[in-house]
Amino acid sequence: MKKITSIFITILSLTSVFGQNSFFDPIDTVETPNGTMLIYADRTWCYQEEKDFEGVMNDYVHDMVCNDTAYAYKSYWNNDEVITCTTNDVTLLKDTIWMCVLDSLHDNYAIPFDGLMTSRYGYRRGRRHNGVDIDLETGDTIYAAFDGKIRYAQYHDHGFGNLIVMRHYNGLETYYAHCSKLLVAPNQDVVAGQPIGLGGNTGRSTGSHLHFEVRFYDNPIDPELIFDFKHKVVKDNLLVHSGVFHPSGSSSTRTYTSSSSQPVDKNAKSHRVRNGENLWIIARKYGTTVDNLCRLNNLTETDVIHIGQVIRLR
Ligand SMILES: [Zn+2]
Repeated sequence: MKKITSIFITILSLTSVFGQNSFFDPIDTVETPNGTMLIYADRTWCYQEEKDFEGVMNDYVHDMVCNDTAYAYKSYWNNDEVITCTTNDVTLLKDTIWMCVLDSLHDNYAIPFDGLMTSRYGYRRGRRHNGVDIDLETGDTIYAAFDGKIRYAQYHDHGFGNLIVMRHYNGLETYYAHCSKLLVAPNQDVVAGQPIGLGGNTGRSTGSHLHFEVRFYDNPIDPELIFDFKHKVVKDNLLVHSGVFHPSGSSSTRTYTSSSSQPVDKNAKSHRVRNGENLWIIARKYGTTVDNLCRLNNLTETDVIHIGQVIRLR
């Protein structure tokens, strides 16, 4: 968040002395040619609406997802909808994108809440669980995972309760649900480790906990691909490919059944790589695993495969 200039400091000092606002509510607003400016008690400010901001915080990742496919992924900036674009179908992603979770400009991170994980990502009682649940007491402080900007901070009627959605410079979004109190406002710039909310039990929740999600272009991925919650460290790199969006995407040993409408020869011994294919797609096509393909072809999961390359299947 930008520091305000001295002209506002006098106004601020007066309002913060006489005002009844809590620390994180804006204590004043100022109309400027660029829009309404919200001013906070810690003498930082942000614009109420981000004019001319289209939501892309990582040009490299955005170029990759746009170039990857004929399908143009959208990165809208929306303060009132949780999902910004329902047609961002990341299962269409053909290539693997190497994403730096931290970089030299934004090299900090924080575990949102240091508590016991009570539920993991994946299928739970037949329903998909898009995040992890971390046990807490109502009122416990929740911290921003990375540097970024608050996209959504309000009560969500359909289950999340008080929800904060943050967009980050690494290209990901993080969700913090069921909060008892929101400590940030939409469009506010926030740094990793900054308190953004208090834990609670709002929305579709039985018992106080933090429901924490990590999303890539609106699509949930396993937060444990990014965070080692046990050791409280972040994994530096994330390889984004269509396989990570599967509810069991964190496991490369899962066997896929073919979902392609094109019939494949189940007895084929080898496959010649076509445009847009990666090991995940080939494994899924033939009902085998990436691990198997790697072992048979002396590859690692991150090796680049080339069009025309012959991949042994059995
Ligand atoms: Zn949950």
